[in-house]
Amino acid sequence: MESFRHLSPNEILNRSFECSCGRKHTIPIERIEYQRNTLSHLPQILNPFIKTEILMVADGNTYGVIGERIGQKLSEHGYTMKLCCIHRDHDVVPDERSLGEVMTHLDENTGFILAVGSGVINDLCRYISARTKTPYGIIATAPSMDGYASSVSPLIVHGKKISFIVGYPRFILSEPEILCDAPEIMIQAVFGDVLGKLTALADWNLSAQINGEHRCKECMLLVERAVQAVIACADLLMQGQEDSAVKLMDALILSGLAMGLYGNSRPASGAEHHLSHYWEMDALAKGHEHALHGNMVGVASHVTALAYQKVIDILPEGFISPDAQEIQSLLSTVRMPDSPAGLGISKDLFHNSILKAMYIRDRYTILGFLDDNGRLETIADELTEYLY
Ligand SMILES: [Zn+2]
Ligand SMILES: [Zn+2]
Repeated sequence: MESFRHLSPNEILNRSFECSCGRKHTIPIERIEYQRNTLSHLPQILNPFIKTEILMVADGNTYGVIGERIGQKLSEHGYTMKLCCIHRDHDVVPDERSLGEVMTHLDENTGFILAVGSGVINDLCRYISARTKTPYGIIATAPSMDGYASSVSPLIVHGKKISFIVGYPRFILSEPEILCDAPEIMIQAVFGDVLGKLTALADWNLSAQINGEHRCKECMLLVERAVQAVIACADLLMQGQEDSAVKLMDALILSGLAMGLYGNSRPASGAEHHLSHYWEMDALAKGHEHALHGNMVGVASHVTALAYQKVIDILPEGFISPDAQEIQSLLSTVRMPDSPAGLGISKDLFHNSILKAMYIRDRYTILGFLDDNGRLETIADELTEYLY
């Protein structure tokens, strides 16, 4: 048996582990690097593809931040570059329109897709890379989400958020100066997403105990390590230092690797993500703006922990519930809303989301547990009463 819970991301890559959970875990990412001057190695890293065309996918913002510079550099080194820059008046959405836009830039000479951005750009490129069997790599422009190293792309199809298990990037590259340039609101949001792991892990433990669902302690401990590292530097996060941006990125990579090693998002996503997806889909359906993913997950994680606390009497013996007060106080440390009302979510929408979010995907969480025990409606009423 091989333990990987203490390894650094680069020690995990290019290996496979016979795990105590009975499964073999492996992750086919070749390189993860975000030190100073990392991007100066890009021409050499892409060398196997120099005879093909490199399709760079960026958005208006990320192209200006770093894409243009990288494109010029690669051209100087003899690469044939093609650009797909997605422009929108609002944030780019990973929907059919964006997918189509990237697809129309692919042609028979495209040998590599170079994604320049964070969440959405990565999700689009990961999906298209898998479907067209064209390798891709990501230049991360912000420590904004943990999907870089995972194998899942959440996309919006017919207005609904659907997670596709697709594949991995060849590499994840960035530099500290780029990462710490991320706006404060994005850092806050990602902190919320990381806090969400506390309830995600509780949900996995709950399902393992109640339903005997398969569980991997190594992957869980990897995620827990990531969360604790971020919590430990919560105070420093908002000061815009390179150190803390890099620490945040370390945590996101670890959590993403846990998902990648496990093969799906179970280690890092539970009821808090289902609630957040429910709110997001409601906003998309109505054409309204919504808060950033991580802001919603942070609040939903607080809500989920409150739900756990309300049913301590019927949880399995010795079950350790997530600490709602701790989550709430950490949210306030980074000056983030801790309640759905603070995100502009209406009372009705909130009440409905507690009742229906569990149908978003087939994954057992505290919400399913409440339902099984006939407590879902009462808890929805009580939480709504408490939070509004
Ligand atoms: Zn998330
Ligand atoms: Zn395992």
